[in-house]
Amino acid sequence: MILHYSTYRLELKHRFTIARGYEDAVDVVLVYFTKDGVTGVGEAAPSGRYNEDALTIVKHLNSISFNEVSSKDSLDYWLDAALPKANGMRSLETAFDLALHDLYGKLNNTATTNHFDSDPQKACMTSFTIGIDDREKIKEKVLEAEEYPLLKVKLGSDHDKEIINTLRDVTDKLIRVDANEGWDLEEGKRMCDWLAERNVEFVEQPLPADNLDDTAKLREHSPLELVADENCIDSEDIPSISDAFDGINIKLMKCGGLREAFKMIQMARERQMKIMLGCMIETSVAITAAAILSPLVDYADLDGNILASNDPFDGVKVKDGMLVLPEGPGLGVTLKE
Ligand SMILES: [Mg+2]
Repeated sequence: MILHYSTYRLELKHRFTIARGYEDAVDVVLVYFTKDGVTGVGEAAPSGRYNEDALTIVKHLNSISFNEVSSKDSLDYWLDAALPKANGMRSLETAFDLALHDLYGKLNNTATTNHFDSDPQKACMTSFTIGIDDREKIKEKVLEAEEYPLLKVKLGSDHDKEIINTLRDVTDKLIRVDANEGWDLEEGKRMCDWLAERNVEFVEQPLPADNLDDTAKLREHSPLELVADENCIDSEDIPSISDAFDGINIKLMKCGGLREAFKMIQMARERQMKIMLGCMIETSVAITAAAILSPLVDYADLDGNILASNDPFDGVKVKDGMLVLPEGPGLGVTLKE
């Protein structure tokens, strides 16, 4: 099995601001595995929040080989052999996992949806994210998001109520709120009460990830459901957070790929937790891979490719807010003409 890789700079249509900081562009690493003349594609979208970056990934990729990975014709065997080579970098594990799922599907002429028993006709609706911004920009973004019936709004700034009031001046659409760890318990209580009267579906990661005790107290108080993002990296986190949160936000780049994400879905279901699929700023490679699992979950927030202006791939599309999965073997992603 031959490995190729390249970095790619995704430019954002608008500066994207959340409680932690802002971005104008994001560097991702595209990974390709080739076997018997067939190539599978994967993607790492490293996040500074988890101490990963594209340069470190590329330096590491320079130093490893995959000659022995495909000695058996088994996807699980390939994954078991390849993922430990990522040196613990979850976004790189994800790149390997996606490229191997894609390659395996293409070699066997089967869609990755089949592998997970995921019915493409049941893909869910995705929300469209509005970052933290000033009044005029927020209004502009809401108008741009006209075709999305469902918005996700980034809060955790010092003018959260103003952001929501601005939004409510221009739209009465259902919104999801993501505080990105921006509140403490008292502010969380005040905001959850206030938001509950403003057509909000749920609140994501209200408090810092290291404050699970207060999150459990907020859950008892809050009329809105709480969804864990920064508190839920992989399946190992689920048992310890199931008392503090009503649901989890699974992101491929946090957990290490489709195989681990599928395990998280099963564990969350056993605990009657709600499940959302989220993303980073990513190309259509990783967004399509996540969308493949969307028929198995409750909520999707898979708009990272739409926020970018130069996605080089074609894959999942959005029609009237609904995810529409591509046909074809593997992930079903192709390079744009
Ligand atoms: Mg989040």
